[in-house]
Amino acid sequence: MPRSKPLLTCEQALRQAAAAIGGDSPRLDAELLLARVTGWSRTSFRAWPERELADEAAEHFAVLVSQRANGTPVAHLLGEQGFWSLTLQVNPSTLIPRPDTECLVEAALALPLPGAARVIDLGTGTGAIALALASERPQWQVMACDAVADAAELARRNACALGLPLEVVVSHWFADLPPGRFDLIISNPPYIRRDDHHLQQGDVRFEPSTALVAGDDGLDDLRVIIAESPDWLQPAGWLVVEHGYDQGEAVRQLFAAAGFTAVATRRDYGGQERLTLGCWPERQVGADDAPRPISHRESSDAE
Ligand code: GLN
Repeated sequence: MPRSKPLLTCEQALRQAAAAIGGDSPRLDAELLLARVTGWSRTSFRAWPERELADEAAEHFAVLVSQRANGTPVAHLLGEQGFWSLTLQVNPSTLIPRPDTECLVEAALALPLPGAARVIDLGTGTGAIALALASERPQWQVMACDAVADAAELARRNACALGLPLEVVVSHWFADLPPGRFDLIISNPPYIRRDDHHLQQGDVRFEPSTALVAGDDGLDDLRVIIAESPDWLQPAGWLVVEHGYDQGEAVRQLFAAAGFTAVATRRDYGGQERLTLGCWPERQVGADDAPRPISHRESSDAE
């Protein structure tokens, strides 16, 4: 039977899709979705733009494009997101890993930690930070927790799919962790203010507020994590947390008030203050009964 309509080429389909999608990265979004539908690589769209799409593929693509145009994150449509060197499964139970969170992984890998360090990622979500660390340091004992059972399950599935060892427990911060001390506590907790207008824009509309929002000033969860970490850290252990671009000063003060030393803030790929770290000081010999060290801020590389 003669066709009434010519088949769409990849380039035509991508142009139409990008126009419908709009936003920050319409062409990239369209290419990722078309690659998923066809099984063809993104480079093939450039090398072979006139390649024709079968009707079925074009229809499936149109469905994904309209979902994307309505705001559904690409990561949710694909069911996966790249983080560090890993491909992680994602779902609406938790945050989609962000590139800036890779800065926490980099910072952690640069710390002076023991060869077989005990590490915990608090509020692990997909398992992103924990699994990136486990992939880089096979001799570390990496643990992760999440208060949301579905997120903990997702982190377990990601660990399994990547063949990386990761112990995942359901715990709201430290509340249900088995007793023990860590050489490194690392976390990307919720830190957005309840009334932040960004919550009505972009991908965050499709992510759970439990993974994003932390009270009126966005610091509720950071306060708990920073205040309780000393009870869970080995002497000379480190705490590394992600925070909002305008929370660096407040977070450094929380670290200092809890007794951390070597407190420093680092910037993200966009040049914004994004993470703060600090060291839980080693006890002085013979000072086992001494009270916690006086808080002070030793250093910061943030301007
Ligand atoms: N950085 C994320 C965003 O602004 C928020 C991550 C978080 O709350 N932990 O979208």
